[in-house]
Formats: sequence, C-alpha cells, structure tokens
Amino acid sequence: MIKFILIFIFLIFANNSYSSNVLNITFLGTGSPRPDINKLGPSVLIKNKNEEIILDIGRGTTLRLNQIGNDFSKIKDIYISHFHFDHIVGLPDFWLTSNLWQKKEDTNVYGPKGIKSFCNSIRNAFKEDIKYRYNKNIKSNINCFNFSKINNDSLKKIKVLPFENSHGHIDNSYGFKIIFKDKKIVYSGDTTYSENLINNYIGSDILIHEIIATTSKIYQNNKKLRKVFSTHTSINQIIKILNKTKPKLTILNHALLFGVSEDFVLSEIGKKYKGKVIFSKDLMSIDLGEELNIFNIGNIKK
Ligand SMILES: [Zn+2]
Ligand SMILES: [Zn+2]
Repeated sequence: MIKFILIFIFLIFANNSYSSNVLNITFLGTGSPRPDINKLGPSVLIKNKNEEIILDIGRGTTLRLNQIGNDFSKIKDIYISHFHFDHIVGLPDFWLTSNLWQKKEDTNVYGPKGIKSFCNSIRNAFKEDIKYRYNKNIKSNINCFNFSKINNDSLKKIKVLPFENSHGHIDNSYGFKIIFKDKKIVYSGDTTYSENLINNYIGSDILIHEIIATTSKIYQNNKKLRKVFSTHTSINQIIKILNKTKPKLTILNHALLFGVSEDFVLSEIGKKYKGKVIFSKDLMSIDLGEELNIFNIGNIKK
C-alpha cells in the first residue's frame, strides 16, 4: 500500500545515500513558460545510487539543483521532450555552469529530431565565453543524439523509453517511460489526449501528467486560450486517461490554470476518478522502492 509521509519543510537531499533499490524523483521545476519564482521551468531529476538523469531542462534548473546540493557531476543523461523553449532554455546554463564546477565527464543530451542542430547552435552562441574561459579546452561537452541512440544496455539501472504524444502543431513531441527494476514511471511531456498515451501509461506506478484548466467564461471569451487547450490535457481528458490506465499515483505537473485553483481541479477529477491524484510542487521529492514516500508534498485530492 502506498504510504505518504508529509513533511512540509525544505529538505536538503545532498547527503542522502540511496539504496540501490530506491529510485528518487525530484521535481526541479513544475511551471509553465510564464515566469514564476515558485514554479520554475519543467525539469525532473531521477536518480538511483549510481545514476542520475534529467527529464526536460527548463528555466532555473541549475538553481534548483544547487538548492538540493547537487553539483551536476553525476548527471550523465538529459532527455528533451520537445523544443518548446520552456523545456530547453536551461540547457546552456547547465552546460556552462557544469564546467565552472569542473564536471569531468561529458553530458549526453537525447532529444527528438533537431537536437543536434540545437546543440550546435548553443556551442556556437557561447564560443566567445568558452574561448575566454577555457581556451577551447572545455572539460565537459554536451553530446547530443536522436532518441534512436539511447543506450538502455544491461548496465543501465534506469532505462528511458520515449513515446510519441500529441502536442498540436508540434509533430515532434514525446513523453518518456522510465523503467527501474519492476517500477514504471511515466512522464507525459506536453500533450493532449491520444490513444498512444493509453498504451504507454498502462501499468505505471507513477504517472506525471500535464494539465490545463479554466472557467467556462474565460474559455468562451478567449480564442487564443481555446487554441492552447487543443494542445494540452483538459480535466475531462485526464479523467478519461486515468480511468483507462489507473496509475498507482498520479502527479499533475506543468499546470496551466487560468482562473481556477489546484483544489478545484482535484475536486473535479475526484468526482469521476477514485485513484490517488496530487499536484507537483518545486522540490517535491519521492522515494520509490518497496514503499512510496513523498517529501515536501503538493496539493492532494480531498
Ligand atoms: Zn510544449
Ligand atoms: Zn511546456
């Protein structure tokens, strides 16, 4: 049975030593493109004793890593869901700061088609700074690959499997399945409802899913917002998804809420879906092993 431990203080995770049987998931940023000091850009750190990966790398990822005492040295792989700026704008900051902190090994960045030219552009944009600081002998590079090059060999404890989602005009958008021993975590990326989501979500221990919601009045009066809605997951759509896939725990993330509160969203979902649903929160952290423990928790369905 899922056991929740509620701790409402910021925890310093720096010195935690994780058993090799526990996966830790920490939300570095849970926000949207609009700046919000309490909800930085989307980014999730997933780590085991020996491996650390990041899903998406939005605004302020380096700040949150610093807050939890992570010096980037063990982060080997970064996975990019799509090229909307809120999911990638933190990459140059991560790369250049990791060199400032003397990261020795390169960082692999896996993304959809276009990732290589994106990385080349970053290298080019900062070539003056690299020349000035390192005389071209930068210690840690970013090596960028299409998803087909993901290394999920038997040495990897945390395996990442991208799947296509449905994000409107972006035809190059993905979610990720994370497999760790017998556990399955799914990260939706930015998406509206599609049948492909259902196939990939079934059997998940934790589903991290985006959400969009507003009042009917705002919806009727805002043409631009109606367009945005068509590329994200509404309350009715998430209810349909959850009833079809029944994750053990659902965490609503990257919330686009216009004129409605998290409590409203949770109570609407609760009318038609009986499983556990909570909202993410920056620096919320989960240990997933034999037990599931949540620290610095966000809103919970009443
Ligand atoms: Zn997007
Ligand atoms: Zn987004």
